[in-house]
Parts: sequence; C-alpha cells; structure tokens
Amino acid sequence: MIDLHTHSTASDGSYTPSALVSRALDAGLSVLALTDHDSVSGNTEAAAAASVAGIGFLCGVELDIDWKPGECHLLGLGLSSSHPELAERLEALNRDRTNRNREIAAKMREAGIDIDIERVEALAAGGTVGRPHFAQFLAETKVVKNRQQAFDRYLAKDRPFYIERNSISLDEGISAIRASGGLPVLAHPLSLYVSWGRMAEVLAGFRDRGLAGIEAWHPGARIADCERLEKLARELGLFVTAGSDFHGEARPDRRLGRTAGRRPIDDRYLPPELAALLS
Ligand code: AMP
Ligand code: ZN
Ligand code: FE
Ligand code: FE
Repeated sequence: MIDLHTHSTASDGSYTPSALVSRALDAGLSVLALTDHDSVSGNTEAAAAASVAGIGFLCGVELDIDWKPGECHLLGLGLSSSHPELAERLEALNRDRTNRNREIAAKMREAGIDIDIERVEALAAGGTVGRPHFAQFLAETKVVKNRQQAFDRYLAKDRPFYIERNSISLDEGISAIRASGGLPVLAHPLSLYVSWGRMAEVLAGFRDRGLAGIEAWHPGARIADCERLEKLARELGLFVTAGSDFHGEARPDRRLGRTAGRRPIDDRYLPPELAALLS
C-alpha cells in the first residue's frame, strides 16, 4: 500500500512530518509522499524519518494554481532536496499571504471586530495562516456560531472580509516543479469543474504544457469517476497516481493509504517515473 498525497503541520495537516511518517508505518505503507499546500518545509524532516522507518519517500508539494471557476491543485512529486526556483516562488507566495492576512485583519478591525492577529497565527500552529484561522478566531470569539458561518457571512468570495489571493500560473508551477527535479501531477481533476465533455481536451492541453500525470484516485470522487479519469489519463499518455489527501485529525474522514470508496491504494499506482525518484 502507498500514498502519494498527504499533509502535515507544514500546511493544514494535524501531524508533524515525523508523526505522519510514523502513522504511515503503522498503516503499513511502503511508499509515502508529503504534499503540503504551497510549502516544502516539512520534506527534510519527513525524508529523514522515512529513511529511519524504511519507507520509500517522495519529497513533494501541492501548488494552488490560478484557475477559474474551480480549483487547480498541482502536485509536485519527487522533488530533489535543493530547489531554488520553487523555494523562491513559495517564499514570494508566503509574503503575499502575510500582506493579505494584514488586509483581512484591517477589514475586520474597520468592522469593529477586536482582531488579535497573533492569536490567528497561533491557531495555524506553525502552518500557513489563512482564512480558516480567521474563521476559527471569529468562532472562538463568538462573533459567529462556527467556522462555516464565518465563511458564509464574512470570508467566502464576495463576502465583506474576502481578499483575493495571488497564486501562480500552470506554466510557472510546472516549470518550478520540473526545475526542482520533480514531476507535475494534477491533483483531484474534478475540482477543476471541467465538464466530462471537455475533460480530455483540457487534460491534453495540460499534458502539452508539461504535465506528467493525473491523480485519478482521490477520496473526494466517486469510484466510477476515478475509473473514468484513469482510463482517460492512460489514453492521453499521462501516468496515473492515487492518494488519500490525508490531513490527520483535521479531516478524520481521510485515512492514510486509502482513496475513493476507502479502497486501499495498490502499489501499481506508483508509476515507474516516480519510483525512480524515491529516496
Ligand atoms: P485561503 O487559502 O486562506 O484562501 O483559505 C482557503 C481554505 O479556506 C480552503 O482550503 C478551505 O479549507 C477554506 N474555505 C474556502 N472557502 C470556504 C467556504 N466557502 N466554506 C468553508 N471553508 C472554505
Ligand atoms: Zn489541505
Ligand atoms: Fe488539493
Ligand atoms: Fe491536498
């Protein structure tokens, strides 16, 4: 059993990179990839822990790519340890985020909310600070009943405290991942909100721009859709991966090594192109 899509405290997962590796060992995984949102900072710790545990490891990342109307998440798998282009991009994104968080806080203050930015940052527990932590703050200070209400009233797109966020283009993402020695894989393609009628055309376009593989299997999709994506990817000459998108206790419905329909992820979802990049 393997898992090529997981998160740690370096983004919004609840386990540290080492704790994640130890959970992966308990779950019986032979290969693990760490793919934190817009962060590579957990990879060194996870790689060291995986080496001690005897688990095959792929350094990774999950980049948020500019895309409308849905979401485009690009996995970078098998990154080498030094990757200046990617690291620079991620640092720039982080600086943008810090500025955006200040703007969100300013809007809240203007609205009369006694916002404590240090408390918001503490809620992120060392990971990337963003809207979920503002939502949690609004919930714990009883401005709203719960986090969802915070989004619905204030933080969702077109709501008063929403600020647009900078993200990188598909070409920039693909280029940064390839320059880092990794392979770009499209995560959970259904989140693109592309109709089945246009899916082949869109994925072929991505392939022509340098995409290497498709995460056909993801717990957010139905089994029939995963099978359809797998077939499509193979027809287009893209390799196929599978993941759990594990976030620890933050999302208890997701289990390490299990994908759509709680199916265990077979070793054949580690394509040879990625097996060659294992550490
Ligand atoms: P950010 O990157 O700071 O814009 O935050 C994005 C995160 O906020 C997403 O990954 C979701 O976890 C959460 N989120 C975004 N929109 C909503 C929404 N309408 N309702 C609940 N959570 C949301
Ligand atoms: Zn996440
Ligand atoms: Fe994602
Ligand atoms: Fe993810």
